[in-house]
Amino acid sequence: MVSCGAVNSSALLLRSANDKHPRGLANNSSGLLGRNLMKHVLGSLVGVSTLKANPSKFQKTMAINDFYWGEPGYEFPMGNIQLMGKTVIEGLRGYEDKYAPLTIEEVAKNSIDWWLTTEDLPDAKNQVRVEGDQRIIVDYTENNSEPFDRLTERWKGILKEIGCGCHIVPQMNYFTPKSGYFQTKMPMHSLGHQVGTCKFGEDPTTSVLDLNCRAHDVDNLYVVDGSFFLSSAAVNPTLTIIANALRVGDHLLERLGARSSSSAVPRATNQTLKNAVVTRMTAIA
Ligand SMILES: Cc1cc2nc3c(=O)[nH]c(=O)nc-3n(C[C@H](O)[C@H](O)[C@H](O)COP(=O)(O)OP(=O)(O)OC[C@H]3O[C@@H](n4cnc5c(N)ncnc54)[C@H](O)[C@@H]3O)c2cc1C
Repeated sequence: MVSCGAVNSSALLLRSANDKHPRGLANNSSGLLGRNLMKHVLGSLVGVSTLKANPSKFQKTMAINDFYWGEPGYEFPMGNIQLMGKTVIEGLRGYEDKYAPLTIEEVAKNSIDWWLTTEDLPDAKNQVRVEGDQRIIVDYTENNSEPFDRLTERWKGILKEIGCGCHIVPQMNYFTPKSGYFQTKMPMHSLGHQVGTCKFGEDPTTSVLDLNCRAHDVDNLYVVDGSFFLSSAAVNPTLTIIANALRVGDHLLERLGARSSSSAVPRATNQTLKNAVVTRMTAIA
């Protein structure tokens, strides 16, 4: 059972090459081990208006999927917008020039902080490679940037409508609010949503894992982290990774004869989500 994350699982398997698996363990049939790495196109858009303070400390409570399937005149998925962790002054010190004419105190006090996610597309050229035991190499060229740019522009327009205006409106007099937005796009090395390097599927020539996340080429090898994804969608990956790991756990119990499908513990009904997950994990352990 391998579960090292989409970069390290493929690195481990690539480093486990042997006479029978010269291109890496589980890589004979497809040659896709380590390939199709996805990580999302990600960025933040922090809106500020001195018109109104935002006293929130833990504000991750809202997600907006209105543009997930595009918008009028653009039929492709643009992505998801959600609140992110609140900007705090400690993170702004030293960057006073960037925010002028807003002070960093004003930014910390009045910001509303958004996180934008667009899916990147699977591309065999985006891959994890290894050089010996020490070096992991990630080849990645961003794709699908246009919908991210559109999503960003659309959200800037909406921020403007709610008073977090053009970047940056200088204060005309003491009573007029100052407002602006601050945009950051996550760089290449921001590799937190890594998925796709051992894609699953029915055909051993076009996928590394079968639909139960068992390696097509190695009967007793399973990979149960973000590696199995076929696409990155535009949402946070972890709940899908967890749900899939539980599903694979069920499959293993059945395969090992530890539990028949008819005696499977029912999915959460009256339990809290936490209890349900703990119950399932205990059952799998
Ligand atoms: C800053 C940040 C914020 C994030 N926020 C969110 C969020 O809000 N929502 C969300 O859904 N996702 C979020 N993510 C992404 C999320 O953390 C990952 O998608 C998820 O953890 C991936 O799960 P995984 O099981 O594939 O791998 P991991 O969680 O990375 O687990 C892999 C484990 O394997 C271990 N390991 C690695 N190599 C080896 C080895 N050779 N031998 C043994 N063990 C090894 C690692 O130490 C690690 O414990 C965030 C990521 C980052 C970095």
